[in-house]
Amino acid sequence: MRFVVANWKMNFLSDQARDFCEAFLADYTASPSVTTAIAPPFHLIRPVADSFRSRQVRVFGQNGHADPKGAFTGEISMAQLQDVGCSGVILGHSERRQLFGETDEALAAKVKAARDWNLLPLLCVGETLEERQRGQTLDVLDRQLSILARTGPTPLWVAYEPVWAIGTGLRAEVAQIREAHAFIQAKLRTLMAPNIGPVPVLYGGSVTPENFPELLDIPEVAGGLVGGASLDPAKFATLVKQAG
Ligand code: PEP
Repeated sequence: MRFVVANWKMNFLSDQARDFCEAFLADYTASPSVTTAIAPPFHLIRPVADSFRSRQVRVFGQNGHADPKGAFTGEISMAQLQDVGCSGVILGHSERRQLFGETDEALAAKVKAARDWNLLPLLCVGETLEERQRGQTLDVLDRQLSILARTGPTPLWVAYEPVWAIGTGLRAEVAQIREAHAFIQAKLRTLMAPNIGPVPVLYGGSVTPENFPELLDIPEVAGGLVGGASLDPAKFATLVKQAG
């Protein structure tokens, strides 16, 4: 099974999302070997989920709060994400960590909350350019994954997203991806009970239809988390086809 996940970030108004869904669905055939998901901004979750109902495209949140409800202005809970049609949630994206101060401690609580509300967490991990240049990549991945020791075994997907490759057009090299993914898998094996089953580890960072086939040839790569290219329905449909 391969996995292709679109992260729309803070893009699209309602009519643009409608146009995307129409164009994408015209080009999309569900495949038993690919799991496809789209993470729209909050105001589009319901209409996107409605468009994809019965077409086997999952809808994810881009973030969620650990508490089910309460005085948290501007936040959305896992319960609310589930209520509007999400079956998963992206957690710990580097933009959340860097721009909104999301800590590993907060992420441990969010992973637990996602599990409690039956949402599949897609946990993002990855090093900054400075961390890579200082030789700290594996230490960073180790620290970011260690939150799973606090959550207990839980089904999840992980995305390795080198921060310096996100939205920059710079893709990590095959050897860098292999090293990081092998490390993540080994760490997950020590943290997760065997009955959770294999955890898919996706790659994210300037994925395009031009470079995705090469990425999919890497045995440790289970699929892609895609930002920029996922805003174009033809490109996203191509990525899904390439994974099939
Ligand atoms: C992302 O934001 O998760 C991402 C991978 O973005 P892009 O594909 O644009 O690099």
